[in-house]
Amino acid sequence: MQKFNYHTHTKRCNHAVGSDEEYVQCAIEAGLNLLGFSDHAPFSKPFDGYRMEFNELSEYICSLKNLQEKYKDEIVIRIGFEFEYYEEMSGEIEKLCELSDYMIVGQHNREFAGQDYGKCCKDEDLEIYSESVVQAMKKGYADIVAHPDYFMLGRDSWNESCEKAARKIALCSKKLNIPLELNLNGVRYGQHEINGSMKFSYPYREFWEIVEEFQCPVVMGWDAHDPKLFLDKERVEQVKALVSGLNLNFLEVLDLKRK
Ligand SMILES: [Zn+2]
Ligand SMILES: [Zn+2]
Repeated sequence: MQKFNYHTHTKRCNHAVGSDEEYVQCAIEAGLNLLGFSDHAPFSKPFDGYRMEFNELSEYICSLKNLQEKYKDEIVIRIGFEFEYYEEMSGEIEKLCELSDYMIVGQHNREFAGQDYGKCCKDEDLEIYSESVVQAMKKGYADIVAHPDYFMLGRDSWNESCEKAARKIALCSKKLNIPLELNLNGVRYGQHEINGSMKFSYPYREFWEIVEEFQCPVVMGWDAHDPKLFLDKERVEQVKALVSGLNLNFLEVLDLKRK
């Protein structure tokens, strides 16, 4: 079992539960030796209700630093953010980089505060999606790509546009050695009809076949919005079954620390 997790939220994002300390305690109980917090990063301008406020930043970091010290003999704690990339927000994203040990790009919205790919992602949106994710990597902001196949949540077919987007992301991940995340929490949305049969949106097997082809680095990410999720051992098996038989390049260790 992978002993680290870099994808963890806190209740500051308004759609997660539990105290910061409970995430640490459950991670220890689950046998993890490294826990990265990556709550949804704030923007200075209104975006959506699903992220911490700009003025909560220092309290977030302070709380995690205290836990780092308190639990230093039991688990390594890293401080990060999950961010969306928009070129015009580069200045703010760079500041978040300076404040954090690492960053993961989770591109949910097509433009700033705009359409959620999870609600609708047309073929032409896929070009914007893949370009945003690639830019986040190329600019050095993203250390991990969260749920790179998120767009399937807003689609009812996998086609050549999806394949093209997947190849573009996989090529960049391989070239820059930036891991793609096999997300352990996408299955919470349940199944919907894709190309005529009921499937989970992500992880989406055809996407991961391309990741296998490129032999991109891969990590699993809990995307925890509830500390108890770490204790759900069946979840790992359920998600692994979606990519069974594929020879994915899972990393055994990953040490992300910017400073
Ligand atoms: Zn979230
Ligand atoms: Zn997340």
